[in-house]
Amino acid sequence: MELNEEQQLNEIKTNLATVKQRIIDACKQAGRDPASVRLLPVTKTVSPERLRIAYAAGCIEMGENKIQEAREKSEVLQDLNIKWSIIGHLQTNKAKYLARFANEFQALDSLKVAEELDKRLQNEGRAIDVYVQVNSSGEVSKFGLPPEAVKDFVKQLPVFSSLRIKGLMTLAIFSSDHDRVRQCFIKMREIQAILRQEAPAGLSFEELSMGMSGDYELAIAEGATVVRVGQAIFGKRPLPDSHYWPGLG
Ligand SMILES: *Cc1c(COP(=O)(O)O)cnc(C)c1O
Repeated sequence: MELNEEQQLNEIKTNLATVKQRIIDACKQAGRDPASVRLLPVTKTVSPERLRIAYAAGCIEMGENKIQEAREKSEVLQDLNIKWSIIGHLQTNKAKYLARFANEFQALDSLKVAEELDKRLQNEGRAIDVYVQVNSSGEVSKFGLPPEAVKDFVKQLPVFSSLRIKGLMTLAIFSSDHDRVRQCFIKMREIQAILRQEAPAGLSFEELSMGMSGDYELAIAEGATVVRVGQAIFGKRPLPDSHYWPGLG
């Protein structure tokens, strides 16, 4: 049976409270300040009507992995003050859309996209926060730079003055083997440590966006400062992940 609006509101509030408490617990276990971890609700496939309810439940930021879907939602929900974060691969020819409404882009992995996005943002008179995506699992299906390419890549970013580089983003391997997932997060922490020493002036690598519904506590244990959580807040998506991550399986 479909839930009415009030039931949906309560459901989302309850799920949010549960996730937030688990974040606090994971921080305590890791000896970290819970304020050092930001929860980014991921709203892909969730309808605009439901997002209105989510907003009322306290979701001010929303992460979307497809620019077209995000753009449509941002138009329908214009009257709300939502901060949109694009967390999926961007094609160069779509950079102009992102530049118009997004507050953040977490999936930078090419110079061509950096160049086009910077140009479009300059046109709009805007600057946004940007994370460099790293393929920490080495799977061919995943977007992101190979770990060994990150250092040289970031050296070329200071010219793009509308991109405020804040950190790194990754998707860990999809595996029920915690050790393999953890290895991905550890690799990210190591890359972050190197960049903090060696990155060009003006770029910051304080943020590590890693961890999703299935692995955010593990990610926090390894230093995540942003966790991107969808299904634990909004319920299971109707189709398998391979549908939402083109190129995966
Ligand atoms: C869908 C998605 C998430 C969230 O995954 P859940 O399993 O719903 O928590 C996180 N990051 C990216 C890039 C995504 O596309």
